[in-house]
Amino acid sequence: MVADHRKPGEYSNMSRYTGPSCKKCRKLGCKLFLKGTKCYSNCVMDKLASAKKGKGMQRRAKLSEYAVRLHEKQKARFISGMTEVPFANLFEKATKSAGQTGEQFLKYLETRLDNVVKRAGFASSLRSARQIVLHGHIKVNDKVINVPSYQVKVGDKITLDAKLAANVMVKQGLEDAEKRALRPSFIEFDASKNTATLLRFPDRSESSYPVNDQLIVEHYSK
Ligand code: SF4
Repeated sequence: MVADHRKPGEYSNMSRYTGPSCKKCRKLGCKLFLKGTKCYSNCVMDKLASAKKGKGMQRRAKLSEYAVRLHEKQKARFISGMTEVPFANLFEKATKSAGQTGEQFLKYLETRLDNVVKRAGFASSLRSARQIVLHGHIKVNDKVINVPSYQVKVGDKITLDAKLAANVMVKQGLEDAEKRALRPSFIEFDASKNTATLLRFPDRSESSYPVNDQLIVEHYSK
C-alpha cells in the first residue's frame, strides 16, 4: 500500500497541466527549462530579470517554511512533467531504497526513460521526449518501450527509430546537445547509430533537477 503524501488543498487539479509552460516558471520564480531551445533564446524569465535590473531589487513576499518546501517539490514535479500521484509514488519508492532518500529520488527522476532520451539529445525538451517514447520511437536493448516512466538501468542501450532521425524536433535536440554541450558524461552517445548507453548512475552534481532534495524530503515527511 503506497502512502498518500498529499496535503489539503495542494492538489486541486489532479490531471496533467496543459497551460502555458512559462507560467510555471513565473510562479516559482526560476527557470525550469520546459520548452527546450526556446528557454535559451527567448525566455520570458530572462526578459523579466533584465527589466528588474533597471528598476533595482524588488521585494518578494517572505514564504512560510511550508511554502518553501512545497515550491521545491513543485519545481521538481513541474520539470518532470509528472502528475501528483505518480510523483509521490516515485518518492515513496525512494524512501524504501537503500541510501539517502533525496539522492535516490533524484536518481529515479534522472533515469526515467523520457529524461534519458532528452539528455541523450534525441529531444530538446522533456515534453518532446515523452512524445517520442509514447509513440514507440524508442527501443531499450532492441525492444520497443513506450513507457516514459520506464527506469533505465546501467548498461541499457537506448535506440532512436531510424525513421525519426530526420524529424525537425529531433534534429533540433541533437544540434542543441552538441552546440551547448548538454550531453552528460554518464551517457555514451553514438551518432552513427543513434544510440545512447547509460554508463553509470549520475551523481547529484550531474542531475538535471536544480532542486534542494532535502527540502523535498522534508515536505513529504511532515
Ligand atoms: Fe518559458 Fe523555458 Fe523560460 Fe521557463 S525557462 S519561462 S519554460 S522559456
